[in-house]
Amino acid sequence: MKTAIHPTYQHDAKIVCACGATYTTGSTLAEMHVDTCSACHPFYTGKQKFLDTAGKLDKFKKRAAKTTAIRAARKTAKAKA
Ligand SMILES: [Zn+2]
Repeated sequence: MKTAIHPTYQHDAKIVCACGATYTTGSTLAEMHVDTCSACHPFYTGKQKFLDTAGKLDKFKKRAAKTTAIRAARKTAKAKA
């Protein structure tokens, strides 16, 4: 093994989930923050949950609402003509 090129291995790295669960494991990072874990992932809980950290779900809902409004407007315009 080459010296001074490998990161230090942390034997008690802390993993913190967005749900509040914390885990201790081995890693080169001392602390990690994750969005989901086995305690809160829908696969394990059986409950539906949206992992929307980038706000993509809100963007999609806005776009869908806009499209519905446009279609409704077109329909009424056609009905008048
Ligand atoms: Zn979690």
